[in-house]
Amino acid sequence: MPGGDVRAGGGLERFREVQLPSVTATRLDGNLCATAIRGELTPRVAVFASAHGRAPSLHILLVGDDPGSQVYVRNKERACIETGLHVTVHRMSASSTREQVLGLVHQLNADAGCDGILVQAPLPAALGKAATQDVFDAIDPGKDVDGFHPTNVGLLVQGRAVLAPCTPTGVIELLERSKIAIGGTRSVVIGRSEIVGKPMALMLLQRDSTVTICHSRTKNLPAVTRDADLLVSAIGRPGFVTADMVKPGATVVDVGISPTSDRQLVVSLFGEGSARLASFDKKGTTVVGDIHPGVWDVAGAMTPVPGGVGPLTIALLLKNTLVAAESRAGR
Ligand code: NAD
Repeated sequence: MPGGDVRAGGGLERFREVQLPSVTATRLDGNLCATAIRGELTPRVAVFASAHGRAPSLHILLVGDDPGSQVYVRNKERACIETGLHVTVHRMSASSTREQVLGLVHQLNADAGCDGILVQAPLPAALGKAATQDVFDAIDPGKDVDGFHPTNVGLLVQGRAVLAPCTPTGVIELLERSKIAIGGTRSVVIGRSEIVGKPMALMLLQRDSTVTICHSRTKNLPAVTRDADLLVSAIGRPGFVTADMVKPGATVVDVGISPTSDRQLVVSLFGEGSARLASFDKKGTTVVGDIHPGVWDVAGAMTPVPGGVGPLTIALLLKNTLVAAESRAGR
């Protein structure tokens, strides 16, 4: 199996009962694709820097001390530096008020030297439910490198986005660079979030796929997913998509990222004696996706977790920062 460390045998009973033709999926390598994208950006960043006397500049707001967010922000910061972008991380305490966060966003909107603003989600719960949307809405759409502002969402719906959400854009880049056909396919997206599911479906639709969006209230989900030539899962439920839910030969993209320290879960997904379990036993933790490892034996092509969509999300953030800087400079 191209996943390297996967074992189908330890999976769900539902999977074991089904007789499927044996196919071995091609591994869609997100690390390779992200490296290629980042390699293309570096000279463009240098051209911008020499033309404008400064590098494109990203400002990241990190509010509170969520451990996952700290890791994500550190990775984004490192990637910016490696690509020659200027990056500033604004760390604000968990007790910051909505007004303080909005105040910093307004200040960055007015700063001519700031090209991109990223507010790391989730914001602390104490800020209130509506705060995240209020903060995203306050970002200058021209600096909205996450592509979450209603103006950018509207442009995406109309098929003329300049700054589109990084994760689904990364999936499209991976599919196109891997020469996976999208036009004329039947695709199914599981998950309808604003940041992944909905924009993913729009991007596939714009490339002439016939798209179905599934969610937690979809009835008889396996019957729907079995129809997909292209299946994208973005729900955050480990091993949710099993082999019996996948059409043989389909392309399967796993957006889900679930960090886990549950050994039993790792055994049930990868099996006793698997390399993944050995690695888990050393570290005490691992990251798993939505797609059950048994799907490697059914799909035609598939993304691994880790090393699939994750690296592309960061590469597309770098690209959006450069595009924001170039667009603002060209105004
Ligand atoms: P979300 O929680 O906002 O949305 C989850 C979606 O899954 C919802 O639309 C819900 O209806 C659907 N869902 C939940 N349970 C379901 C079920 N049993 N059947 C069908 N649908 C179900 O999540 P999100 O922000 O879109 O993220 C989804 C996953 O993708 C998470 O694991 C997240 O960590 C991951 N993610 C990865 C990247 C990356 O770079 N790879 C980026 C963003 C998000």
